[in-house]
Amino acid sequence: RIAYVNGQYVPVSKAMVHIEDRGYQFADGIYEVCTVVNGRYWDMEGHLARLDRSLRELQMDAPMDHAALRVVMKEVVRRNRLKNALVYMQVTRGVAPRNHAFPPEGTPPSLVITARRFNLNRGDALAESGVSVISHPDIRWGRVDIKTVGLLPNALAKQAASEAGAYEAFLVRDGYVTECSSSNAWIVDESGALVTHPKGNTILGGITRQTAIACAEELQIKVIERPFTLEEAKAAPEAFLTSATSFVTPVTAIDGVRIGSGKPGPVARRLREAYKARAARG
Ligand code: PLP
Repeated sequence: RIAYVNGQYVPVSKAMVHIEDRGYQFADGIYEVCTVVNGRYWDMEGHLARLDRSLRELQMDAPMDHAALRVVMKEVVRRNRLKNALVYMQVTRGVAPRNHAFPPEGTPPSLVITARRFNLNRGDALAESGVSVISHPDIRWGRVDIKTVGLLPNALAKQAASEAGAYEAFLVRDGYVTECSSSNAWIVDESGALVTHPKGNTILGGITRQTAIACAEELQIKVIERPFTLEEAKAAPEAFLTSATSFVTPVTAIDGVRIGSGKPGPVARRLREAYKARAARG
């Protein structure tokens, strides 16, 4: 496997960052994950726009412009000979002697881009069966709308899910489900409308969430952006999650409580198909 690291393409085993990189010492970095399917980038505009927003919110310099980033991403995918890929892009505030305050102006940001094989069939199989989730306290900081590499609470939640044999964790703050450890959470209400937590400082505004909203509009399915409780989710006819790597994935159990019939529901299925068709159009 080949990675791009600060201007060079290197084998992943030889790809290194400095021990005084601020990403390593302070989690002072941001990232994006997107997919390439049959050589096409899905939702790339959205991911690059969110990258810019994360940089802006943290007063971090962009390592290069969008056109150059696209070239490097394509090159990483090409050098890894991938048709379907998961592309990871990380920008940190660069290298400086350890000090909490920002390094001097002009310190170049670090940029790392990697790609690995993206298994579409695995996602489809999970969507066919549906996935189970657990609930887990949302102990994250107050700016989770910024896609930073500070993911320890997310990692702990995912590990708890994994140990419970579940796919994801519904994060719960004050009784309400905010989102999941690496995806956005949704339910379908009794009227067939989609319900998902509104954007703000307590969730990451998913790019797939945004595209799913557009798909729902096309399908004339109503979307209500409001918080929902864990109890409401457990009693909902359907639940599902969205992310760049899982698209739309039906949730069939929460904390062992069966959702709807215990099988993927019709609304989530339709939305997944619509999302895939839309993304394939580019
Ligand atoms: N929420 C969190 C905490 C995430 O880490 C992610 C993606 O990694 C998402 C939501 C989904 O965002 P996207 O649809 O842009 O992948």
